[in-house]
Amino acid sequence: MTNGSEVDVQVLGAGVVGLTTAITLAEAGWRVSVRTASPPGATTSAAAGAVWGPVTVGPPGRCRDWARTGLDVLRDLARDPAAGIMTRSGQELSRVPASPPAWADLLDELHVYSERELPPGFAAGWRYRAPVVSMPVYLDYLVARLEQAGVKIDVNPITSLTEVADGADGAFPAPVIVNCTGVAARQLVPDPAVHPIRGQVVIIANPGIEEFYIDHSTPGTDLIYLFPHQDTVVLGGTMADGDWDTEPRPAVAERILAGCAAAEPRVRDAPVVAHRVGLRPARPEVRLEAEPLGDGRVLWHNYGHGGGGVTISWGCAREIAAELGRG
Ligand SMILES: Cc1cc2nc3c(=O)[nH]c(=O)nc-3n(C[C@H](O)[C@H](O)[C@H](O)COP(=O)(O)OP(=O)(O)OC[C@H]3O[C@@H](n4cnc5c(N)ncnc54)[C@H](O)[C@@H]3O)c2cc1C
Repeated sequence: MTNGSEVDVQVLGAGVVGLTTAITLAEAGWRVSVRTASPPGATTSAAAGAVWGPVTVGPPGRCRDWARTGLDVLRDLARDPAAGIMTRSGQELSRVPASPPAWADLLDELHVYSERELPPGFAAGWRYRAPVVSMPVYLDYLVARLEQAGVKIDVNPITSLTEVADGADGAFPAPVIVNCTGVAARQLVPDPAVHPIRGQVVIIANPGIEEFYIDHSTPGTDLIYLFPHQDTVVLGGTMADGDWDTEPRPAVAERILAGCAAAEPRVRDAPVVAHRVGLRPARPEVRLEAEPLGDGRVLWHNYGHGGGGVTISWGCAREIAAELGRG
């Protein structure tokens, strides 16, 4: 699969979607390179919670399949301490009527609370076990796995997809390009269907919290959730549609800390160790499809993973590998 290019596949983007795609293709035997605007630790992916769940992402059927693959892979990876994944129990609660999403039946130990099991003031709730991913650790793990497969990450933003597709920098363009640029796809493709859903989180030292907690009660942009990792807990959060601001806002952080402390008093005295913001790359449906470039070359699009990119990244990557003939 070569036209004089040094690689078979050029992946654009080094968030969880780009790294997972690059690993999947490199481990299947393709010669892969990765080009990114920012290093993995400075992407939206680094700000994610992250618990398994295809949230704010579509279409439902394909996402269910991709999420099932993701659940299998993340459960397996949880056996490797280097991957930063723990399988945890936890609960979701709501003060207004609610029920588990359709995909919750894929989860282990799903239990919907009866009225008498609900904590006071709540109208609905359920428990389950799921992989909880410490993203800074997981991204380091993915980078190391990519290096082991012989792939280099070039931190060097592209100015347009055409520049890469045409090989405008003088190099032969790769026969396959995979566009994993997240919310930047809005400008690069361009694709006006892509929009940011801003998420701000506060990271505290873990005071001994072992269960995750998600409260759905508040309508609008404010959420309350706690995702415990080994030494830290990610506290959330926000879902602000159309907000491009990547700077943490102190007033939002205060609101997150107060909401989480009301749900879990041990939060109150725990030291804050970081603030993070990410822009979920939302789109009515994930764009996972190939665009022919002529001469047998192809531009794959793999973006628009909304609030579920950690969950469905392996499923999407494997679909591309299968379509390229090495899945
Ligand atoms: C607060 C928060 C909590 C979340 N919780 C969860 C969760 O619990 N579970 C879950 O599954 N998901 C969760 N998500 C969603 C998940 O983080 C995203 O779906 C996922 O990170 C998207 O990954 P990505 O690789 O597509 O995008 P990104 O991580 O944004 O990566 C995009 C890449 O494209 C590169 N790029 C951009 N422009 C250019 C350019 N011009 N040239 C070259 N490269 C470029 C960037 O540098 C970056 O490397 C959460 C998100 C947030 C913000």
